[in-house]
Amino acid sequence: MQNSTEMHQNETRGAHPYAPARAPRANVVAARGCQECRAWGTVVTIEGRLELCPACQVPG
Ligand SMILES: [Zn+2]
Repeated sequence: MQNSTEMHQNETRGAHPYAPARAPRANVVAARGCQECRAWGTVVTIEGRLELCPACQVPG
């Protein structure tokens, strides 16, 4: 017989600090070689928000 021990307490994964719910779509092709966003197409503002890179991603 076995005692029902608590073996399933390993739920400490996930919850990324940078997981924006609405990440703007960036044109990765246009972001190629960009120094501002490092080819990501998006930059993080001082407010911690993810926005399109103003250097390579032209709005509109
Ligand atoms: Zn850029």
